[in-house]
Amino acid sequence: MSNKYKILVVEDETNIRNFIKTILETNGYQVLCANNGSSGKTMFLSHCPNLVVLDLGLPDMDGVELIKAVREEFSTPIIILSARTNESDKVKALDCGANDYVTKPFGTNEFLARVRATLRSIRQEEGERQIGKTFSVNDMMIDYERRSILLAGEEIKLTQTEYNIVELLSIHAGRVLTYSEIIKKIWGYADSGSIKKLQVNMANIRKKFHEKPGENKYIKNELGVGYSFKDEDR
Ligand code: CA
Repeated sequence: MSNKYKILVVEDETNIRNFIKTILETNGYQVLCANNGSSGKTMFLSHCPNLVVLDLGLPDMDGVELIKAVREEFSTPIIILSARTNESDKVKALDCGANDYVTKPFGTNEFLARVRATLRSIRQEEGERQIGKTFSVNDMMIDYERRSILLAGEEIKLTQTEYNIVELLSIHAGRVLTYSEIIKKIWGYADSGSIKKLQVNMANIRKKFHEKPGENKYIKNELGVGYSFKDEDR
């Protein structure tokens, strides 16, 4: 496996943390560990993991606070791990954006099955449109295999970065992707000039799409939030 999934485990109990780390590594995942909420948050931002396994009862904060912080900007899947059997905690965590919930004590197989299922659901969501190989909206057609975009039958010349942005937005068509989410996925890192860089690329894309200001034929600018690509169904 050359491209391992990166999983961040936020858990204060050493035994459980080590147990999870071991079973995940044994099964081919790359694992990062944090023993409290604040270092979990820092590691999340600096490593951009593919999945977070999060204990709700942390020494410095409630795990739900961490879910909220992550969900402000990212859609990274989160599996909650907790000794709590209280239904309201579970609902609260899921309402705040957690994807799944495992109650301690849990078995290795059950835990691994949840991890696989969660990663699979994200992959399906991201791969949904590539399976069809193309994506169409209005008079635009994106060919994911050829990495080309046709507008009214004419090929639009985009730079690699511009194409990557359009591909990312079209895969998530109908959903708003925040500036940070786009920046992290396109450039892998963010700095003070990132939003400006994204806006410049976006202005060029819209120009190449012959999209007039205020027109949302293909890409909608959600002011102060991010961008969304028009869904073919709407
Ligand atoms: Ca705990």
